[in-house]
Amino acid sequence: MPVKLYAFTCGYLTLPATFILKGDTGRLTLPIPSYLIVHPKGKALFDSGLHLQTQTDPLGYAGEESLKFSEFHFLPGEEISSRLMAMNVDPGEITHLINSHLHYDHAGGNGQIPNADLIVQRNEWDHAMALPDTDLAYFKQDFDIGQRRQLISGEHDLFGDGSVVCLPTYGHTPGHQSLRVRTEKNEYILCGDACYLKESLEKLHLPGIAHDKEAMLAVFRRLRDMQSRGATIMYGHDPNFWQSVPQGPICLP
Ligand SMILES: [Zn+2]
Repeated sequence: MPVKLYAFTCGYLTLPATFILKGDTGRLTLPIPSYLIVHPKGKALFDSGLHLQTQTDPLGYAGEESLKFSEFHFLPGEEISSRLMAMNVDPGEITHLINSHLHYDHAGGNGQIPNADLIVQRNEWDHAMALPDTDLAYFKQDFDIGQRRQLISGEHDLFGDGSVVCLPTYGHTPGHQSLRVRTEKNEYILCGDACYLKESLEKLHLPGIAHDKEAMLAVFRRLRDMQSRGATIMYGHDPNFWQSVPQGPICLP
């Protein structure tokens, strides 16, 4: 059985454009992606989207300071558990929950995936746990919820056959990772926040906020290299690109 990859939009988030493309003015509304990978040995989820509480009580969840610059658009039914159930996948069947990193728009839905092993880079976990509870991007109620953890360092082959591989893409955060997925016909790189937009990669245009901009630039160059060798780059938050991405239950080609 070949590996199948499914994409979901789990709501949207509006942020100042300069966060995404340094120097740009105005605001951008970004899709929040999550992906399901169905492999003969298990079902993996790459990122879990936003926390359910943002649907009913964004202030209580994110706090006043965070809501000064961010705005959630997240309706009941858009959360990852509902998106999975709509294609007859019980969230309890997910065996591996991979977080690109632990920002609230990537790990917020972790609590909806009850039985999976959490797979995150060790330096991301350590960084997140060392931050104060007042941090504006890392909320411990998203990820410090007692899930079984596999803390990895560097590349990690999930099923041992090269089809689903975590790739360290440090820069956006200290322990950011992307995911390479090989389906029957294609190779996909699920960027997470290693590269927000198609334009970011085309112009090597860095975001306004990054943990290490030089490291991000090096990651951009690696992504370009993978692209030139035929991989499809799945940009992390590109509203235009995302319109062309088939949504589960339709799998990517
Ligand atoms: Zn992020």
